[in-house]
Amino acid sequence: MINFKPFEDIVNSPGRKMSEYIEKNRKIIGCFPLYIPEQIIYALDMIPFGMWGSGMEVKLSKNFFPAYVCGILQTNFELALKGVYKGVSAVMITTLCDSLKCATQNWKYAVPDIDIIPVNYPQNRESRGAYSFLYEQYQNIIWKLERISGQRLKNDKLKQAIDVYNEHNSVMRKFARTAAAYPGEVSPLYRSYVIKSGYFMDKKEHTELVKQLINELEVCKPKIFRGIRVVTTGIIADSKDLLDIFHNNKIAVVADDVAHESRQFRVDVKEEEDLIGALVHQYLNMYGCSTVIGGKVKRDEYILNLVKENNADGVIMLMTKFCDPEEYDYPLIRKKMEENNIPMLSIEVDKQVRNYGQASTAVQTFQEMVRL
Ligand code: SF4
Repeated sequence: MINFKPFEDIVNSPGRKMSEYIEKNRKIIGCFPLYIPEQIIYALDMIPFGMWGSGMEVKLSKNFFPAYVCGILQTNFELALKGVYKGVSAVMITTLCDSLKCATQNWKYAVPDIDIIPVNYPQNRESRGAYSFLYEQYQNIIWKLERISGQRLKNDKLKQAIDVYNEHNSVMRKFARTAAAYPGEVSPLYRSYVIKSGYFMDKKEHTELVKQLINELEVCKPKIFRGIRVVTTGIIADSKDLLDIFHNNKIAVVADDVAHESRQFRVDVKEEEDLIGALVHQYLNMYGCSTVIGGKVKRDEYILNLVKENNADGVIMLMTKFCDPEEYDYPLIRKKMEENNIPMLSIEVDKQVRNYGQASTAVQTFQEMVRL
């Protein structure tokens, strides 16, 4: 029996993990979606802590956002306004979509006792100024983080942090491949637990835990799996209710293009003499994401390749409610799948919704259709 409990426990009580680090004098930096240069935080001996919202209803955050803002931001603010992030030294918020841009400003008024560091990315990554713009942004961020940590960023520490993150990326990619080979053992929910727990842990610690799990899996004979294999795409796919519906309908996730999952470990930092330049290039080399323009592979092509490489039966898009960037990508992905006769299902997800009754019927119909 494979033991997923350590991952599940961390996902179910991230606050406990946060307190543990604070007790050990590690400062916490909250990281909003999507691509925070966590290696800088880590090199300054602080813990980057993922903030991708929580399954809950919101009341307090309504004072700062209109109703048509995604649940990730609404619930992040709700948690902050309820004092759940007490002890966090600062939050970093990117400006990769219009809602995030507003969030950087709203935070100052909503949560004045927790510093905010905006992370401004060049929208046009192919322009000549993109590199120098982001380089300057990162220098500014380093200066702010140094003040919080009380230490100067040293090159050797940054190199170590980059190595820790590159290793984590590589182990997580291996985990995703292993999970695809063991669909009978790694349910969609367990797969999510393993990935999500990494947001609340020191990456070195998480890497070791995932390595152990891979070893446990690799020594056992995979159970026979008679369900369907899908590729998921979207911003986030961590709803327990929804993932249980997948499992109950014998659906295995064999690969993903989810921002909260594989997109985080898709691109490594390459070796360069200038380490900050190397971090800038990591962002400039990102591809296949609704929030970043351009890139070496288009997202629809990328998903199609995932389907082919993993012998998947179809694609499920988890469409985050009120997420403009994803809504723009949806017709392109749908068209590409139709042209290639790949069954595709789109399900709206919202952090504030717990009842996925309608989605359950859609998932059941989808899997019956795929099996025909
Ligand atoms: S889910 Fe969409 S709208 Fe919300 S923060 Fe992410 S990219 Fe922006």
